[in-house]
Formats: sequence, C-alpha cells, structure tokens
Amino acid sequence: MIAPPRDALPARRRCPARPRVRSVSRSGLALFGAVGQNAAMQKNDPDITEVTPDAPVCESAHGGRAKCLQRLVRLGLPVPRSVALSFETVRRIAEGTAPDPGRILAPFGPGPVLCVRPSSGDPDWGGLRAYLSVGLNGERLEELSGRIGRRAAAGHYLRFIQSYGEHVMRFDPEAFEDLPDDPAAALGPALEVFEREAGEGFPQDPGVQLQGVLQFMARAWQGTTARLLRQARGAPEDAGLGLVVQEMAGLRGGGECGTGVLQLASGQTGRRGVEGHYNRHPPDSESPAAEGAPLAVSRGRGGDSLEERAPEAHAELLGHAELMRRRLREEMRVEFAVDGGAVWILDGVPAVRTARAAVAFAVALAEEGIVGRDEALMRIEPRALTELLHHHVDPEFPREVLARGVAASPGAASGRIVFSGAEALAREARGEACILVTRETSLEDIRGMHAADGVLTGRGGTTSHAAVIARGIGKPCVVGVGEMEIDAAAETLCFGDESVLRAGDRIAIDGGAGEVLSGETPLTEPAWDAALSTLLEWAGETRDLEVRANVDTPRDAKAARSFGAAGIGLCRTEHMFFDSDRLTPMREMIFADSGEERRAALQRLLPMQRQDFADIFRIMDGLPVCIRLFDPPLHEFLPFGTEGMRDLAVALELPLSDVSRRVEELREFNPMLGMRGVRLGIAVPEIYEMQARAIFEAAVEAGGEGCAVAPEIMIPLVSARREVELVKSRVDAVAAAVAEDSGHGFEYRLGVMVETPRAALRAGDIALQSSFLSFGTNDLTQMTYGLSRDDAGRFMSEYVRQGVYAEDPFRTLDTQGVGELLTMAAERGRDANPGLVLSICGEHGGDPETIAFCREAQFDYVSCSPFRVPLARLAVAQLAIRSRGDGPQAAPDEFSAG
Ligand code: PEP
Ligand code: MG
Repeated sequence: MIAPPRDALPARRRCPARPRVRSVSRSGLALFGAVGQNAAMQKNDPDITEVTPDAPVCESAHGGRAKCLQRLVRLGLPVPRSVALSFETVRRIAEGTAPDPGRILAPFGPGPVLCVRPSSGDPDWGGLRAYLSVGLNGERLEELSGRIGRRAAAGHYLRFIQSYGEHVMRFDPEAFEDLPDDPAAALGPALEVFEREAGEGFPQDPGVQLQGVLQFMARAWQGTTARLLRQARGAPEDAGLGLVVQEMAGLRGGGECGTGVLQLASGQTGRRGVEGHYNRHPPDSESPAAEGAPLAVSRGRGGDSLEERAPEAHAELLGHAELMRRRLREEMRVEFAVDGGAVWILDGVPAVRTARAAVAFAVALAEEGIVGRDEALMRIEPRALTELLHHHVDPEFPREVLARGVAASPGAASGRIVFSGAEALAREARGEACILVTRETSLEDIRGMHAADGVLTGRGGTTSHAAVIARGIGKPCVVGVGEMEIDAAAETLCFGDESVLRAGDRIAIDGGAGEVLSGETPLTEPAWDAALSTLLEWAGETRDLEVRANVDTPRDAKAARSFGAAGIGLCRTEHMFFDSDRLTPMREMIFADSGEERRAALQRLLPMQRQDFADIFRIMDGLPVCIRLFDPPLHEFLPFGTEGMRDLAVALELPLSDVSRRVEELREFNPMLGMRGVRLGIAVPEIYEMQARAIFEAAVEAGGEGCAVAPEIMIPLVSARREVELVKSRVDAVAAAVAEDSGHGFEYRLGVMVETPRAALRAGDIALQSSFLSFGTNDLTQMTYGLSRDDAGRFMSEYVRQGVYAEDPFRTLDTQGVGELLTMAAERGRDANPGLVLSICGEHGGDPETIAFCREAQFDYVSCSPFRVPLARLAVAQLAIRSRGDGPQAAPDEFSAG
C-alpha cells in the first residue's frame, strides 16, 4: 500500500471569512457542570480553537485531521463539536505546562463525554490511537444508562477506567485481569482495583480526566518508540502533534447505534463500490452476542449490513461520502457514527491505496471532471508505476530475509534454485518457476535469464550485465549479494554459516528491495489496466520529450510498443547471436583465418539478423529504430572450460589445441577497454558490413510490405572522429549496394554512441559526421569515475551510506561530473551541427531525476528498458506540467483556507 499523495487535498491558502455554519451538538448531554467553565475559550486563539468554518485552523499548526474536520464543517456535514489544540500547545503539555482544561471544555457545555484524537502532519506517520469516553463518571453513567442501556454505558465507562489506569496512571497491564465478563458487573471491581492501585478513587472531574489524557498523549508522542516509528515512515525529526478533542457520538441511543468506516472505492484495485465495516452497539434489549462481528456497510451477497438495518442513515452516509469525494477532490476513507439513527461524520482521510488504486482514483476523478487531467497526472509518483508492471511479494506475508544485495530490477519472483541457464530452460519446459543463481551472468546466460523467473548474482552492480538484461526483459533481479557463496559443482548455495540451500530448493527474490527470501513466497499479480492506459495516454498528450525503449529482440519490441515507446533508442545486436543456431556460425567467424572465411561464416548469420530487424521494423511500423552495431569483445562468445572447448572443437572440426590457442589469443587483460565496439568494427570490418546489409535489406523487405521504416545505425565506443569516418564510408557503401541490388531506395541515419569521455570532449568534431549522438551513460559513468560497473556493487552501499556519493551514479546520473560531460558535448555537438539529435540510452534514461536533467539540456529523447517506459512517460509529463507554471487546477476557495 502507498500513502495518498500529499498534495491530494487542496493546497493551503487563506480565504476570506465566511458566514458561520455551526456544527450542532446532538448528544443532549447538557446536565452537568464542567470544570473551569467560566474560563471561556478566546476567539481566534490558534492554540486552542473550536473547529468552526472560519477558525484559524491550519495543517501546519494543527495537523491534517483538524484541518480536514474544518473542511467537513464548511461542507455543512454533521461533525461532532470539536476543539483543536495546536502543535505548540501539545508540546507545552508534554513539557508539563498544561492549559486550563476549562478553556478546552467550555464549548461542549456541561457534562460532556469526549474523545481525544491525534492530528499529526501526516496520518501515515502512525502513532497514537484515539482516546474515548473522557468525561464519563458516576453521575454521567446513570444518565447514559437511561439512554443507551446499562450494559453499553458500563462498557464505555469500564474501558475508560481501564485505559486511564494503564496509560495515565501507569498500572501494570494485568491489574484489571480478573474482572467479570459482564461490564455492568465488572464496573464495581474495576473501580476498587483503581482505588487500590492509585491510592485514591477514579477521578470524577472531567477536567482532571482530560488533563491526564492530554498529558499521556502528548508525552507518548515524544517517546522514543513513537519517534523512531514515525521517523522510519518519513516524518521529520521535529514532527509536531496536534490533538482534537471531540464530542463523542454514539451516546444518544433510542435507535440504531454504532460506528464504522467506509470508502466508495477499493484501496486495492481502485474499483468503485462501497467498502468498509460497521460495528453495531446493540441496546440492552438485545443479547450481548448481537454485537458480534462487524457488519458490511452496504448490502452485499448474504450477511447483515448497515443498509438493511438503517436504510435512511445508510443513504445519508453515502451522500455525505460522495460530497466529501467531490468537494475535497479525493477518494476518502470516512469514519462515521450512527446514533439513534442519526449520522455523524467523525473524520475523513485520503484512502490508503495501492499504486493500482492510486491510478484508478486519479483517472476516475479526472474523468468525472472533479480534478483536471494535469492534476491527475501529478498525483501519481512515477516510480510507483513499476509496482503495476511486475509481480510483488504479498505485503501480508511475513518475509524471512536470507540476504541483501543491490536492487537491480524491480518485481519479485519465487521459485526453485537453478545454477545454470540449461537447467532454467528445463524447468521452464516443465512449467516450473525458477530463480537462476550464479556468480555473475554473461552473454551466454541470456536464454537462461529469459527462461528463469528471476536472477540472483553474487557479484555486480546496477549496470552490470545481469542488471541491464533483467531490466530489459522485465525480470526481477538482485545482484551483488556479497555474503552468498555458490558452489556450482556441488550445486549448493549458502548465506553466512547457517543456511545451505541446494538446487531445487525454493527461494524468492525481491528485486525492488534487493532481498533474497527463504522458502515459497506468495506474490501479487501485475496490474496493467484501463486506468493506467488512460493515464499514460494523457501523459503522452502532455509530453515535450520523447521516450524510446532499449530493445534487443522482436519480443521486447512488442512490449515497448505496448508501453507506448516512441521508438527504439538502442537495439543491442550482440544478443541476437546467442541462439543455439547462431552461436556456431558466430564462432566459425571468430576462428576464421581470412576475410574470405569470415565473410562466409557471416553470410550464414546474415539472414537471421535480417529476419530479426525486419520483424522489429514491422512491429515498430513508422517509429524510429536505432540499431547499435556489434559492441562486446569477441571472447564473450567463446567457451571457458576444457569441456566447452572440446565441444567447440567437435562442432568446428578442429583440433582441441587450435581452439584453446585461439581462445588464449583472444584473451585480454582488460576486455571492456580492449578490442570491442568500433575498434572491432574497424579491425574486422566484415562484421559491421554484414550487420549494415542485414539492416538495409530488412528495411527494403519491411518497406516493401508497406511499413514505414526509419532505421538508424549507431556506432559504439567511439573516441575519435576518424573512427566514424571509416565506419560511415563502409556503411554508406553497403547502403548504395543494397539499394542497387534491390532496386529500392531507403533513408537511414548514422550516429554515434557517446560513451567514452574523449567522445564527449570531441563531440563537436564527431557531430560533423553524425546525425545523432546518444549518450551511453553506463560506460560513460564507468569511464568517468574509473569505476567498474560490474564490481561497484561491492562497496556502493557503503559509499552512499558514508556520503561519498549522494546516490549510486549508475542509477541516477551524476549531474556534476558525468552530467557536465553531457552538457558540454551537447553544446559542442549542436554548435557544429545544429540539426543534431541528442539523447541518452544508458540505464539512467529511466530515472526521473536524470530525465529532468535531459529535459533541461534540451535533449530530443530518452531511451530506457521497456518496463520503465511508462514511468519515464509520466515523469516527462510531470516535468512539462511543472514547467508550464500554471500547475494543476486550484482548489475551490471554501476548502483551501489555512
Ligand atoms: C551504455 O554504455 O550506456 C550502454 C547503453 O551500452 P551497454 O550497456 O550495452 O554497454
Ligand atoms: Mg556501453
């Protein structure tokens, strides 16, 4: 569940004074004198103020509950008379300077029975519960018994005595243990216990009682437990507490009585329909069993409900709830009482909601014209959308955390441990869920990652191979679990000394929290629904920066398109070579001794690449597709161990010694800075020539079927303009040849991936040869910091904890260092080539803070993994709305004062 947005309720503003609409007391408890009733409450005293339409109540001084009650009073709803105590007053009470209780009691007249409710800055911070029945004493009991019956009245008094004894007087919790079940019979013994423990009788003076309760609540808020709890929920250290002293509803009697809560839509799914419960307070004439379990609020399938028992009160209540929804412009949770058939509204807070319900609420309010579309868009935290696209651990389920690592790809998966991609494929074939566990993944594992439900690695960081691929294909992933030891040969896994797990044992991972969980764990389903589609459609109308997707396969392209990507910003082509039918020709190409042999091997790969590209063009019909030429070092395609080399020797019909020699020749000390990317493209030009041909032939093929094709070719790891010139001339030559062979012309654009610091520095030069520059911020961050993206996970959390880095720079762009390279390169590039298209395609492209940076730098688009496209689209729309300055539609005046 997530908290409703803080800006959900109307913004705070002062409004002119308006006619007073007093809330009316219906309790009729006006028979007894109150302490200090001569000390009348000062008008307009913000420290202790009756909650009236024009009272000086504001959220920052009295808390959300007090402010909301004032809004309800302004709506003319039947709210019990209430007095708000400011944060400052409560702080003074905690320090021992209590105000004269007579000032608080005065508005309630003689003989009040009250409840005291906490009113903090945010209901989500939790903390104290309401304190009920303050003011009850022997005399009031008699009177109350006449109205609601002896048993119910005694029940109220008994509970008050017990909680007063326990909290205010600090009796042992067992002090009241042995009382009879019947409250009427228990009352006498309870008063005796009180007198024995306290050394004096239960206080009969409502002022004394109120003082005790206020002091207890004020001090409890300052207590260490409450402080730590609320700070864990995001409250500031000095968060204040206001208190609301409210006349207690439900004591009039003479008809249906009870209390309950309701909301008009589900906090889980957002679907319309009354939810909530109603606790009846049966009169003495009914058996005590009638109190029973809570009833439904509205008539449902079978069972008793408030609607059946008191249809008029039910109808009135729903009317009030709908009015609250419309005028407070928010889906509310309404606390109510029914008292002798009359309805009271005790409180209203924005309903707690899942991300799915938050979207449904915002869209429904906008569709009904209650809020504007911009406001609906602003109400959703972009990161919350990831909750909708993935499975999650059931929030009700108690987690047993085995270990923690880097949260690398969101969502949760539960399944059996497998230690190899082959085993993952086997489990998938049997329809069994599994988690692929390995020290780190490489290109070879991609098929296994597709087959597994989640991926867990001992090494790695936010942009290591496993993390990038898992995000791209939407699988949950936890990396960098340093305390995890894997014995792949024995097929065991252990965390610390205690838990040894074997292949086939069940675990779960939470890729959003970076946790490894023990045993079978229930998961919630993803929830892409019509409301989310609508919200994203509106986001699309409001955007001023495009969002493309990083997509490697036709399957990913379909996902990207369904999430509303404006094109493909990065298609990493190397992943296409790992299917079993492609790996052998790929390896033959690597082992070829001459350009001729290499071409022959590549010739076998050409139709397969062409097929992939043609499929992607068809799927993206009309949208730009940016294909990156081959990037990784070749050794990633070769086997590691002797067994793998022997298999390869058999497949290639070569002696084993030839294979191992070639593998040895290709080994590099620092492969990520070695023969990869454009360096390979220049040293072994046949690879890029084959890829360029595959792209252009696919463009002709798909174009011939009527698809609008817009290919873009991107060169990776560039650091010098000459590299671009060489590749460009060869690609242009292939384009001309394909156009001539096929008899069809086509257009394409060629650009550069800026991922080395030198490319950024020389962007002006490079831009002269390029239609676009796309910043590969994964490698650019790695090279700017001199920090391995595959190893950073080991110490990143410590670095962030000690404030060395404000954030993991592989997750959120380092705007000072790497960012400066980006802005400098953008400026130099555009100065040299004004038509230059600028974008970012590193993992940062799906991070809202980085998106804001790119928008500020006037980039044309960001590109991120398909499953982050919705988040990015919403983040872009919110930035556009904010920058327009008119903001979401203002709240109606009468609800926004204070
Ligand atoms: C990058 O380096 O930012 C990038 C997108 O490429 P890759 O992650 O494939 O190295
Ligand atoms: Mg890169």
